[in-house]
Amino acid sequence: MACSSRLVPRQVDRRRWKFSALGLALSLGLASCRAERDNSERAVSGPASAAATKLPSPPGSAAVAASAVPHTAGTRLILLGTKGGPRVGPPGTPTSTSTLILVNGVPYIIDCGYGTSSQLVGAKVALNTVRHVFVTHHHSDHMIELGPLVYNGWATGLRTQVDVYGPPGTAKMITDFLAYMQLDIQTRMADEGRPDLRKLVVSRDLAEPGMVFQNPDVKVTAARVPHPPIEQAYAYRFETKDASIVISGDTTYAPKLAEFAKDADVLVHEVMHLGGIEKLLKRVPNPAALREHLIASHTVPEDVGKIAAAARVKTLVLSHLVPGDDPSITDDMWTQGVAKHFTGRIIVGKDLMEVSLPPH
Ligand SMILES: [Zn+2]
Ligand SMILES: [Zn+2]
Repeated sequence: MACSSRLVPRQVDRRRWKFSALGLALSLGLASCRAERDNSERAVSGPASAAATKLPSPPGSAAVAASAVPHTAGTRLILLGTKGGPRVGPPGTPTSTSTLILVNGVPYIIDCGYGTSSQLVGAKVALNTVRHVFVTHHHSDHMIELGPLVYNGWATGLRTQVDVYGPPGTAKMITDFLAYMQLDIQTRMADEGRPDLRKLVVSRDLAEPGMVFQNPDVKVTAARVPHPPIEQAYAYRFETKDASIVISGDTTYAPKLAEFAKDADVLVHEVMHLGGIEKLLKRVPNPAALREHLIASHTVPEDVGKIAAAARVKTLVLSHLVPGDDPSITDDMWTQGVAKHFTGRIIVGKDLMEVSLPPH
């Protein structure tokens, strides 16, 4: 981004633009608040989500207007990316794993596969409002964009703390990423008056499952899930005033996960379609090894149904679909096996789908 900090007249012009953009955003936000909410699953097209804190105007920020929209009260669940695996697909195809929970307008982001930043923008969440990020495990389709997500927030005006939680190694990933970006960060601090990103990010490694985080709006706990050969993979449970939501992360069939998800309103569970992976395996150079990994570390629809039934959840959302980019696998094909065991509401996740929350 070009810097204009030495060009006083342009600075004045930019401030004027910001005030008019702010007014426009406030008008749009208020108009959206008056609109009735559709209670079915839909692609996100609602108002921008608000900042956790009112932010001072950052230099050259395109997200200032969006961050000024008033808080949306309550809990919202939005699927940002629903594809399992690291392969980058063409535009318009599903992106890698990321899930967003908004609580009173504050974003809680679980996993950061490739494309998370642009999916957040697609969900109308200003990147400079990123506040809490949770990583389930260290496969790249869950964390390759962790550093870039925080950076992209900073690049669009983030001036407040970002808390990052994940298995051991997460803090080092942040440190290494910030070292990788050191020259850019220092240049923009000096040239554009930005705060030191290295001081804004607070990363915590979760050595053990249990309590992760709590504030007046939300309590987050973690449970270990089996996902060989990864040794430390977590599921997260979010409890708010309106909903309890469990994100499975990547896991093979894990009856203990049903205990962790007991009576949750929503369980977002990964799923793998065996017929679909045979087609996928034909496209890779090492099919035997990949087949072995997939079967040992992921969950087939029948077993997802067993977990949801044992947990007695109200709604089951299938996400982290493997393969997630094969349109020949229909929604019915994803749900057939699940429905043999689970009779509650089943939703096949799509990118930027907002899941309506059942009564708490
Ligand atoms: Zn994965
Ligand atoms: Zn994984």
